[in-house]
Amino acid sequence: MHHGRGSGIYAGVKINGVKGMNDVLPADVARWHEMESVAREVFALYGYREVRTPAVEHAALFARGVGEATDIVNKEMYVFEDKGEELLALRPEGTAGTVRAFIEHGAFVEGPQKWFYMGPMFRRERPQKGRYRQFHQIGCEAFGVAEPYLDAEQIALLADYFARLGVTAELKLNSVGDAQCRPAYLADLKAYLVANQGALCADCKDRIERNPLRVLDCKVESCQPVLEKAPRLLERLCEPCRTHFDQVKAGLDALGVAYRIEPRLVRGLDYYVRTAYEFTSDALGSQSAVAGGGRYDRLVETLGGPPTPGIGFALGEERLSMILEKVGRAAPERRPAVFFVSADATGALEGLRLAAALRRAGIACELDPRGGKMKAQFKQAERVGARWAVVLGGNEVATGQAKLKDLQTREETPVALSELAARVAG
Ligand code: AMP
Repeated sequence: MHHGRGSGIYAGVKINGVKGMNDVLPADVARWHEMESVAREVFALYGYREVRTPAVEHAALFARGVGEATDIVNKEMYVFEDKGEELLALRPEGTAGTVRAFIEHGAFVEGPQKWFYMGPMFRRERPQKGRYRQFHQIGCEAFGVAEPYLDAEQIALLADYFARLGVTAELKLNSVGDAQCRPAYLADLKAYLVANQGALCADCKDRIERNPLRVLDCKVESCQPVLEKAPRLLERLCEPCRTHFDQVKAGLDALGVAYRIEPRLVRGLDYYVRTAYEFTSDALGSQSAVAGGGRYDRLVETLGGPPTPGIGFALGEERLSMILEKVGRAAPERRPAVFFVSADATGALEGLRLAAALRRAGIACELDPRGGKMKAQFKQAERVGARWAVVLGGNEVATGQAKLKDLQTREETPVALSELAARVAG
């Protein structure tokens, strides 16, 4: 993540980027390509297809689809009136828009579907390490299958993805029950939290009525003793939810995916049922969650579609990028194969022409259009990391012969310009 480093001594008025919204500079982009190309590769193996939805939706979609009781809608959403006509919002997450598109285009008539997305999300949070106001998520959503092996498969997909990237992440697993077993549990949980609210933080107290499950998720140290003793939904699951949970675990065992049961892991919304999961990494510090997911069997219906079960996750690219940076996994940036050094005006024009020809053949090359001293051009060749240099001047152009200089070994070998592409390819 990069914050402005330019000095402020120039005449113009400098306008910085918006707080909490980051630039990804060219030196870091290779890591983003890696995250995204490996995602596309792995997701395709599991039959997930990419969908691209707008960054702006009707605010009402998130109020319904994410929930008015959640912080991300209630406090953090960027909402604006579009010329006084419609209330629109920058998407704070990707599931609601994906489900809207799924319903709007009637995709449900084709039976079960697996979709994924990637792109920027916006939440007006207090920026800190790992928490930004514009951030990027990669997410998967699977529609139309209620059975637990889908859950196991989706979780395994994410485990595969991390493994491919060389990232170690810990899987935490829970069940949040369903409309059968949750209401009675919630009543007990509320009663317990009210009875102990003296020992809870202001946020927790605030959530007891609005979103009691979310209280369990509080990370404030002083709240932990009360929360550790809170009643556990996992011990109160109805028979179908229990069976579902057991089968998810059996699926994960069969797939060799290790998990830790985390009874306080929740997804704080009514339409979330049964499976809830999260991947965390020690490399991250306090914002340790790199991905979170859960089953949302009633969401499609809530948003006006036919009853359609579903399960999905979202992972944060900024956080994954931080992990990749730590474990030293970054695909190297592409470096030019050849740098054309011009000895004179004839050579400069020939360099321009040859570079274009090599690029058309798929070979990256560079030259310094400023020309100038050859020594300075060689320096430039090293700075950009070129593999070879070729000096061109009137003589080389006239004879069609030049010298290919290996910039690592400093060895020079003769080369016919007509064979240059073949010599440096591969
Ligand atoms: P959520 O949509 O809140 O379940 O978040 C899913 C994942 O997105 C988290 O595990 C994080 O990796 C990432 N994430 C969520 N909020 C932010 C944020 N404000 N800044 C950066 N990453 C975020």
